[in-house]
Order: sequence, then C-alpha cells, then structure tokens
Amino acid sequence: MSGIDNLPPLREVIAKHDLAAKKSLGQNFLLDLNLTAKIARLGGDLTQADILEIGPGPGGLTRGLLAEGARRVLAIEKDPRCMAALAEIGAAYPGRLQTINGDALEVNPLDHLRHPIKVAANLPYNVGTELLVRWLTPREWPPFWESLTLMFQREVAQRIVATPGSKAYGRLALLAQWRSDPRIVMELPPEAFSPPPKVNSAVVHLTALPAPRFPADPGVLNKVVAAAFNQRRKMLRSALKSVNPEIEDHLIAAGIKPTERAEQVGLEAFCALARSLA
Ligand code: SAM
Repeated sequence: MSGIDNLPPLREVIAKHDLAAKKSLGQNFLLDLNLTAKIARLGGDLTQADILEIGPGPGGLTRGLLAEGARRVLAIEKDPRCMAALAEIGAAYPGRLQTINGDALEVNPLDHLRHPIKVAANLPYNVGTELLVRWLTPREWPPFWESLTLMFQREVAQRIVATPGSKAYGRLALLAQWRSDPRIVMELPPEAFSPPPKVNSAVVHLTALPAPRFPADPGVLNKVVAAAFNQRRKMLRSALKSVNPEIEDHLIAAGIKPTERAEQVGLEAFCALARSLA
C-alpha cells in the first residue's frame, strides 16, 4: 500500500497492467506519490473544483489530485492500456473520477465539467504547448478554467514566463502573460520520472486574469506574434510584411519603431499593434 491512498504502489500498477512506457506517446511517468500530491497542491484548494486532467497515464497525478480532495477529476488519456489502472482508482474514490479514452486535442471536455474548473497535466511537450495556446486564445475571456498547473520541459516553462530582451521571450510568453499570471512553481530533475527524459522539467502555474491586461483580438494578436517571432532576427517591418503590406504605418501607430526586433517589444505594444491591424 502506498502513502497517500490504499491503492498499490505505481510500480506494481505498471507491472500488473503491462504499461511499459511508449516513446510515441511521450510517456515519462511520475511514480512518487508524495511528489504527485505535492504537484496537486500547487493547484491550490481543489475541494471546491472540478479538475480536468490530461494524460493521466497510470494515474500518479490523478491519485495526488484525489487524495488532495479534488471535488471531481475528469481524466482524458489517449493510451487505452491505461484505462483499467484508472478504473481501479475510480473504484477507490467512488463518484469522483471520470475517465475518457481519447485524444485531448479532439475531445471537448466541457460537457462533463462543472465550474469552477482547474486544469492539471503532465503531458508530452508538443501536446502541452498546443493545448496551452488553445486555452489562452479563446474568443471570450475569462476562459472555462480558473488555473492551469502544467508540467513542461524546463526550457518551455522558461519561455512561458520570459520577459522582453531575453532569448526565451516569444509567442508563448506574450500569450500567457496577456491573459494570465504564469509562474514556475517547481523544478524536477530527469530522475523524478520513469523512464527519465533527457531534459529537466518544471511545473508552471497559470492563474486566469479576470480580463486581459490590454485589449486585443486573440486571433490577430496570435497571428502577429507568431509572424514576428518566426523571424526574430529581422526588423519588424520585414518580419511582418506578410501580415499586412502597410505594416510600417501600423507599427508607427502602435508606437513601435519599424526597425525594432520582436524580442525588444513588450506586451502592451504588441496589443496596440494587434488593435491597429484589426
Ligand atoms: N500524468 C502521468 C504521470 O505524471 O505519470 C503520465 C505522464 S506522461 C508524460 C504523458 C501522458 O499523456 C501519457 O500517459 C500519454 O499516454 C498521454 N498522452 C499523450 N498524448 C496525449 C493526447 N493527445 N491526449 C491525451 N493523452 C495523451
């Protein structure tokens, strides 16, 4: 029996259900339940919230979330092999765990969740960044979620919290800091996972702001910052030419020198540029 619940240790669960990690699904599992409970606590008080968990795998973080008192957890997992292990967790926490076997990029979880909703995930990084961008760019704000507690490669985490002028500054920083307050709240070495990945990891906690810091259309802002940082070494007047043929006028209207490079421009100016272009 393990520390935080009466279920078997995760190594036994993995052996029993034959859950050898698959590289193709980015499977690096957390096996230390004290650690997963600690990550769950980084999401704040869970007792009044439904938690959307993406990629539960054998259920280490799921068990952390439930042991820390989550009102309900909806867990979406692509790998069908994990479903039996997750069902055992559901049986230990009656009525509090719902699982969906599917691709988180395809499934709409909102039919199954009651507000307030928090998100927790330890995902392969490409799926994680794709979902993060989606969660940050809906048309309406505030979004369906109150907070996101997400594990990333440390390098991606640093890109989310980066400030202008740094190498890590780019689209992720701008989209995240426009509508939320992102912080790195934990760093983990490769040995925390089984099998260990090649890189360090970090947990980022993002709290949704009640309103964006500056007005802008999410689609236009996303397009502008993507184009600006796609050619980050170029001056903005050439990097953004494909976005609008009169880009110089728009840059000047937004108070940005057309000869500046994307990494020198802050959030407020990018939002002004998006408004001018809209
Ligand atoms: N949360 C578990 C943990 O911390 O031990 C597993 C983490 S592992 C890094 C990522 C998990 O996401 C795997 O279980 C994998 O099968 C799942 N996954 C990968 N792509 C997915 C997708 N598109 N939708 C849902 N789950 C996915």
